[in-house]
Amino acid sequence: MATYNKSRRAFIKTTGLAAGIGITGIPSLVKAMPLTAGNAFSQQPLPYDYKGLEPVIDAMTMEIHYSKHAATYAKNLADACAAEKVDINNAKLEDVLRNASKYSAKMRNNGGGHYNHELFWQCMKPGTATKPEGKLAAAIDQSFGSFEAFKTQFSDAGKNRFGSGWAWLVVTTDKKLVTGSTPNQDNPLMDVSDLKGMPLLGLDVWEHAYYLKYQNKRPDYINNWWNVVNWDFVQKRFEQA
Ligand code: MN
Repeated sequence: MATYNKSRRAFIKTTGLAAGIGITGIPSLVKAMPLTAGNAFSQQPLPYDYKGLEPVIDAMTMEIHYSKHAATYAKNLADACAAEKVDINNAKLEDVLRNASKYSAKMRNNGGGHYNHELFWQCMKPGTATKPEGKLAAAIDQSFGSFEAFKTQFSDAGKNRFGSGWAWLVVTTDKKLVTGSTPNQDNPLMDVSDLKGMPLLGLDVWEHAYYLKYQNKRPDYINNWWNVVNWDFVQKRFEQA
């Protein structure tokens, strides 16, 4: 059973914050919308129950992933911020990530780890996934040829990422949609990342994200994952980018 705070969850659902509607991003090299109107440096409530994404992602994997792995990134990020004089009540997490090269490896790994997971939870939702619509659907068709071609390209980015990392759909500063992957907990906002852009959709391909159910079969996890993608959330990010 999930142990998150239900009243906070209810608040977030009511106000629509879980859909990523936040303060307007600051113009910079790469535009980045805050993921939450809460403190972006803190772990936010999971927007669904641990078993909400079954059978695609099992409840035990979700519980360990959220309450252990992701919680640890958030804690270590707080420690790094204290040590490196980042005021989490005034600083913007996106700015820290954009300047990752100026901070420690601990900041890079845990700042990325925290941001990536907060995004990942919102990129998924219970029930059967639909398809992109409107401007996002048109942009995907234009950039990749078709939705199916996009899914193949994104899936391949995840399947071919050697070791641990993430697959991404990003929008670049010149408004192009691009897929790719990053190693470890890097993300496309970081100045140290080869892949650059504002992340719209991210997929965790670390073994901790799928191993209990899928073991060595990462491609099966990726293929099933499309069934829980929250396209409403991805569309909102794209339209605000
Ligand atoms: Mn993870």
